[in-house]
Amino acid sequence: MNFELLYPGFKEKALTFSYDDGQIFDRRLVELFNKYDLKATFHLNTGILDTEGFIEKKELCTLYEGHEIACHGVYHEYPTHLAKEQLFQEFYQDRLALETCTGRIIRGCSYAFGEYDEQVVSTLKSLGFAYSRTVESTDGFRIPADFMKWTPSCHHNDAFDGEIIRTFLKKPDYLKVPLLYIWGHSFEFEREQTWDKMEELCGKLAGHSDIWYTTNLEYADYINAARALVFSADGQRVQNLSAIPVYARFHNELCVIAGSGNANQRR
Ligand SMILES: [Zn+2]
Repeated sequence: MNFELLYPGFKEKALTFSYDDGQIFDRRLVELFNKYDLKATFHLNTGILDTEGFIEKKELCTLYEGHEIACHGVYHEYPTHLAKEQLFQEFYQDRLALETCTGRIIRGCSYAFGEYDEQVVSTLKSLGFAYSRTVESTDGFRIPADFMKWTPSCHHNDAFDGEIIRTFLKKPDYLKVPLLYIWGHSFEFEREQTWDKMEELCGKLAGHSDIWYTTNLEYADYINAARALVFSADGQRVQNLSAIPVYARFHNELCVIAGSGNANQRR
């Protein structure tokens, strides 16, 4: 089948950032991302917000405007240590509180301490989460097979020496649509005095016309829409049943497969 997936705007690479815990240093980090037009996701514990050293609930909407707000568990408990009722509450209450504070629909998550097992995954799925991030770096750029066990490319400290960034920017031939996914905590920049290194990293990654700058959830939703495309038996026609337009090279032509439900989208 002559179909090659591309990212929105026909871009060939994607970049997303993911930052946990909601400490006050998120303010400086958001400023940095905004300065370089980069998109990020911030995973928060609503039971800990409003305490010393953490973001206040009343600033969520303004601070994180243009970025994704996502769950990390109400009290940052080890998910695998909780009984199933506690596990449910840890994520249900976090989602509910973030939605109440922001008016958004919250569907993203990252596992506190990177801990998860099959019960954690199934609980999160039943609560409507679209993805959850682990802390196991792949040092690669592949589209995740399972968004509920989303392994990032690397922690920001492993991106500072530039090797993984250079590889990503020159785009390995064997990977059609690489994703660079960088994660960490904003307090690490303060503790390790690496704000300058982070700014340098943002500068290197910003302003590339072939990169789609996106949040974790936007990325997962886009790939899920692409995976849900329906093709005719002869591979000549494609149908997009979602509301998200999918960008591709189809029969050697660039085309946008609109989310119209139209069964004949060939261009
Ligand atoms: Zn955490």
